[in-house]
Amino acid sequence: MTDEARLARHRRLWEADHRHLWHPFTQMQDWLGEEPLIVDAGDGPYLVDTLGNRYLDGVSSLWCNVHGHRVPEIDDAVRAQLGRIAHSTLLGLASTASIECAEALAAVVPRGLTRVFFSDAGATAVEIALKMAYQHHQLRGDAGRSEFVALRGGYHGDTIGAVSVGGIDLFHRMFAPLLFPVHHAPQPYCYRCPLAKEWPGCAMACADEVEKVFAERPGKIAALVLEPVMQGADGMIAQPPGYVRRMREICDRHGALLVCDEVATGFGRTGTMFAVEQEGVVPDILTVAKGITGGYLPLAATVTTERIFESFLGPYDSKRTFFHGHTYAGNPLACAAATASIRLMRERKVIEGLPAKIAALGRALEPARALEHVGEVRQRGLMVGIELVRDRGTKEEYAYALRAGHRVVLEARRHGAIIRPLGNVVVLMPPLALSEGQLVELAGIARSAIEQVTARI
Ligand SMILES: *Cc1c(COP(=O)(O)O)cnc(C)c1O
Repeated sequence: MTDEARLARHRRLWEADHRHLWHPFTQMQDWLGEEPLIVDAGDGPYLVDTLGNRYLDGVSSLWCNVHGHRVPEIDDAVRAQLGRIAHSTLLGLASTASIECAEALAAVVPRGLTRVFFSDAGATAVEIALKMAYQHHQLRGDAGRSEFVALRGGYHGDTIGAVSVGGIDLFHRMFAPLLFPVHHAPQPYCYRCPLAKEWPGCAMACADEVEKVFAERPGKIAALVLEPVMQGADGMIAQPPGYVRRMREICDRHGALLVCDEVATGFGRTGTMFAVEQEGVVPDILTVAKGITGGYLPLAATVTTERIFESFLGPYDSKRTFFHGHTYAGNPLACAAATASIRLMRERKVIEGLPAKIAALGRALEPARALEHVGEVRQRGLMVGIELVRDRGTKEEYAYALRAGHRVVLEARRHGAIIRPLGNVVVLMPPLALSEGQLVELAGIARSAIEQVTARI
């Protein structure tokens, strides 16, 4: 394509985007005033835009991509599935691709999690977990256990049930009248401790606050919903070691289920296949999505134990059935991609290769820690949050209207990396396939973008 043709195509797409699209989590008035970056292709760790520019995909196309883009093995698996069938239903029928995918998934999740309920988004996986936990207790004759506990700052998706257990005021407050009541406990956010204490002298007082909710509501709590190890969307809030184990103990002591939402942390992001492994914890229900297909297609799963599964068994007229399902549940194309991605993780020894990459990224982030306007750098595996502050001494935040994180992201684009902020937190969440050199490059771009932007705002 000539430069002229390329530019004409870009302009035409730009105009059509502005005429028809409504982008998620986006102030469209700002959007309509700016030229969009239009992704046209992917190539390994790179995104390529309509003008032919290449960028490192520094947030894995919203925390999904694992092996890079256009991976021959996954491309082939999807093509082969297309050659058989694109979609058939799991309501009353089985399908080859969903069976193989469930088997592959059951082999990599923590031991004891054996039953896979498919859906198509993180939010639906969470909705399913909530209803499954609730109905489980009902079916066991424990009808009083109907309430949920979650953490402030939690993010579990944007459907109303998932928003009910969510705890991010900016996203969720508007919808408060539509939500069911949930007990929200303080989040373990050591840099800005909600209890004004300091780790480790605090002996994890915030975990005691979680237990207090259970103690005050004996026999009432159905489940605790938790993003283990790292709360992602609130700004990469890393939990102190031992926190997830404490949550498991609290649930056990009080007869409640532990739902671990690993939609973000699953599939190697924190350095182990699942984050809960780092604490030797097995949840009663695990939700996965984002990385499951290697970042190819929408697929999610709610994975649980035989114990919970068995609560739902009974004769037809007992009506113990789990009356829930999404039309595209277990879509064969998505399942084929997931099976191929999980196989590739094993064949390429992706998890085994992570410690060196995590260490390289950590070293490359050291200079950012020293910057005048960086309050804290939080890293768990290849999930990183760099919290920008107006003043390191007082931890004063940049005003919302300044869009400090957004400005850093725009600057990073000029240096060749796509990243995305969460408020004043600059997020790095690269595909696991990035080389050590590419990780160092990404950290360097983030550092210089932060330095340049914070010098002028
Ligand atoms: C992204 C995310 C979700 C929601 O997933 P969707 O596919 O966007 O619905 C749920 N939980 C966590 C922890 C997430 O990061």
